[in-house]
Amino acid sequence: MHQYNFLLDAGKMPDHWYNIIPDLKTPMAPPLHPATHKPLNPEDLAAIFPMALIEQEMSNKPAISIPGEVMDIYKLWRPTPLRRAYRLEKALDTPAKIFYKNESVSPSGSHKINTSTAQVYYNKAEGIKEISTETGAGQWGTALSIACSMFGLKCTVYMVRVSYDQKPYRRSFIQTYGGVIYPSPSTTTDAGRAFLAEDPNTTGSLGMAISEAVEVAVKSGGAIKYSLGSVLNHVLLHQTIIGLEAKQQMESAEAYPDVVIGCCGGGSNFAGLAFPYVQDKMKKGKDIDIIAVEPTACPTLTRGLYAYDYGDTAMMTPLLKQYTLGHNFVPPGIHAGGLRYHGVAQQVAHLTREGTIRAVAVHQNPVFEASLLFAKCEGIVPAPEAGHAIRTAVDEALKCKASGESKTILFNLSGHGHFDMSSYDSYLAGKLVDFDLDEEALRRAEEAIPKVEEVSA
Ligand SMILES: *Cc1c(COP(=O)(O)O)cnc(C)c1O
Repeated sequence: MHQYNFLLDAGKMPDHWYNIIPDLKTPMAPPLHPATHKPLNPEDLAAIFPMALIEQEMSNKPAISIPGEVMDIYKLWRPTPLRRAYRLEKALDTPAKIFYKNESVSPSGSHKINTSTAQVYYNKAEGIKEISTETGAGQWGTALSIACSMFGLKCTVYMVRVSYDQKPYRRSFIQTYGGVIYPSPSTTTDAGRAFLAEDPNTTGSLGMAISEAVEVAVKSGGAIKYSLGSVLNHVLLHQTIIGLEAKQQMESAEAYPDVVIGCCGGGSNFAGLAFPYVQDKMKKGKDIDIIAVEPTACPTLTRGLYAYDYGDTAMMTPLLKQYTLGHNFVPPGIHAGGLRYHGVAQQVAHLTREGTIRAVAVHQNPVFEASLLFAKCEGIVPAPEAGHAIRTAVDEALKCKASGESKTILFNLSGHGHFDMSSYDSYLAGKLVDFDLDEEALRRAEEAIPKVEEVSA
């Protein structure tokens, strides 16, 4: 009899997050002030984030304990299951062992609530009563509105116009928890009005929505703070609960991964699963192939420029050294909305740059092909974002079939696809187009990135 599920007792759940900063082989380039291009001071961030999160953003502590109130909420869905995908292995006829961590079991349906819970907790602790944010496909807006409702804060969400129009049920989901939504660009902010003046028919982008949400916080005089669902160090930190749990569960399965895979938009679910293994690779010399998977339509890590760039279109966020397609990049309308961001987490960029991890890009038709196979074998309809990780896990398993190796593959199932059935419809109707970014887009990125004189850390 096969053992499919490797569950962890709630009592054995890790009580801390893993901070990768002190373990990095070389320090990361410092974040810069958007206007002066000088290294950022913690006070520069105080207008939009609570101090506790700013401290985590820059912390050198290797482990940060999870507050009791956050643990209590985590326990509503954590520890999440680790499952061995025997049926997928059999369908692929591969000698590889395939495991996945199932983050789709959370109330929001994805990993994002691991950080929204923590972020709202720290905001509340500092007396904040309202939080503004952006959302692309809607997963982050959902995760933040749930966390805000649990802690009794107001949640204002700027939702990328195209998703606002195409995903009415995501809207209702966010509103069910009390979140207030505006389609972005909106007429409620200076940034939004400027984007609309430039192009009244714009579909919006994550970069524009971030500009609006940041503006609301900056202009509130401290009453409203801003919250980001990916990219920043403290967000990746909160997600490491995924990998810390997975390590214990893999041990109980008497397995250790040769390959660790996560899809990569801003980089948070990838980092969450991978960083505790990156630590083993850096500190214990473990031989692990750690792969971030992105869409060919938005190939930040595989084709982007390694440079300082803004996180938003209106150039209000700090400059971070990262891989970028340019802060004014509007990606093609692929169905993995969560992977359509022009930049990436600085930590993920840094590790890619130094070769500790690697990145691959995949087309959306093969992604859906693998997602349907996964759904039929494992019973779970994956989010199109998570489908990117599945595609690469399948590719690695097929390489094992060809070579006869029986590698152990671990990937992150970052979320389910119950709100993405229209993209499954498009796939089933044969209507999905595979995009490759043209060279012209990269040239425009080169023009858009700010000219920054590099300072040493
Ligand atoms: C948002 C999202 C992603 C992409 O964001 P990361 O920060 O790269 O993890 C991936 N999968 C799902 C299900 C998401 O909701």
